[in-house]
Amino acid sequence: MKPVVRFAPSSTGRLHVGNVRTALINWLFVRAFEDGKFVLRIDDTDTVRSTRAFEDGIREDLTWLGLTWDSTFNQSDRFDLYDAAAVRLKKTGRLYPCYETAEELDRQRKLQRMQNKPPTYNRAALNLTQEQKEAYRREGRLPHWRFRLSGRIVTWTDCVRGEQSVNTGSLSDPVLVRGDGSYLYTLPSVVDDIEAGITHVVRGEDHVANSGAQIEIFRALSDHLPNFAHVPLLVGKDGAVLSKRLGSLSIHQLREDGMEALAVCSLLARIGTSDPVDAQLSTDALVKEFAFSKIGRAPARFDEDELVLVNARLLHRTPYSVVKDRLDTLGVSGGEGFWNLIRANIERLPDTATWSTAIFAPMAGQIDDADREFCRAAAECLPATIGDDTWSSWTAELRQTTGREGGRLFMPLRKALTGRRRGPEMAAVLSLLGPERAKGRLHGEAA
Ligand code: GLU
Repeated sequence: MKPVVRFAPSSTGRLHVGNVRTALINWLFVRAFEDGKFVLRIDDTDTVRSTRAFEDGIREDLTWLGLTWDSTFNQSDRFDLYDAAAVRLKKTGRLYPCYETAEELDRQRKLQRMQNKPPTYNRAALNLTQEQKEAYRREGRLPHWRFRLSGRIVTWTDCVRGEQSVNTGSLSDPVLVRGDGSYLYTLPSVVDDIEAGITHVVRGEDHVANSGAQIEIFRALSDHLPNFAHVPLLVGKDGAVLSKRLGSLSIHQLREDGMEALAVCSLLARIGTSDPVDAQLSTDALVKEFAFSKIGRAPARFDEDELVLVNARLLHRTPYSVVKDRLDTLGVSGGEGFWNLIRANIERLPDTATWSTAIFAPMAGQIDDADREFCRAAAECLPATIGDDTWSSWTAELRQTTGREGGRLFMPLRKALTGRRRGPEMAAVLSLLGPERAKGRLHGEAA
């Protein structure tokens, strides 16, 4: 099998965790096959709301996440194809003109509701005579075009949801072309899926009913029918749908907030699946272990705090070579030794700069009045050269001479030498500071 998948964002906004999860699932699935293809389709038939800037942003975000594509195209370049498909559907009578105004349709739906009937389109337009249609046109009404569903039950075996059926008799005939000739999403998507030979349509489960209608359009246009996988939507940790907060959960924002691309992928690939969430240093393991059968039917919970934890765990494992260039850009010195020392103490890469300043820039540590004498004594017995065991021999000596133990012994030293109550291993901090600066800080000087 040569799977071909597509990710089809609309260029009417930036990518957020919800649509990136769909992109990622497509990508993980297809990357397990040597000759699998990932197509990036930009859904920009809505020429008013789609912008070039959003499109560039989408490409930038996917690139940053490492979700590479093998080919890409814009729907706005393909109106000829959609026109040709519409002509074919009109010829066979599957696409028919309707002249109702939005107000008329609305009134109709209200009436149906009052009569306890489902608010589906009543297909009145199918009974219009040629004269009636012409009369509407003379009135200046432009037709919109609906696809005539078969009224039968459409079934498919969904890669995530198993056996599915949609009764097209319970759906309104979908509008494929608006009065102004513009296309809604439904037809262009099918035309492109046929044309690109998409083998698996992987998307959110909000498209399930859509798939029922689209399968009928596939059948009306070609012999090609892809497989379908509908993945549950993301919810917040409180179980509420994320849609209102998606702005703050844009990939762009998460990146600005210091989240690593691999942390985002590690989390989004695994939430809502039977595999545990873990920070991955590459997407290889995520690809290897991906299976549609592991995706649960319940909504997947996205929790920003969990993302921060995964981000921290990822950084704790990240080797220096991977972050070197970014540390240089952040102006962080100290090389590999410094990175290995502090990486367990950061949640976000930019936090490194705080530690770099704390250790390499002149700084007066924190000394409480009650510890002033103790710190002075500590400075006095600090050896002139610092080796691997200096910290343990020095603190052992201080324990003996001052009688201090545990937190009373170590905390004043940590605060005086780093200005903080928590942080990296002190033996290494001491050797990075060197004897002169350590003494200065213990005396309360900016060293
Ligand atoms: N542009 C559509 C959306 O974002 C694509 C849906 C699909 O994958 O077919 O909902």
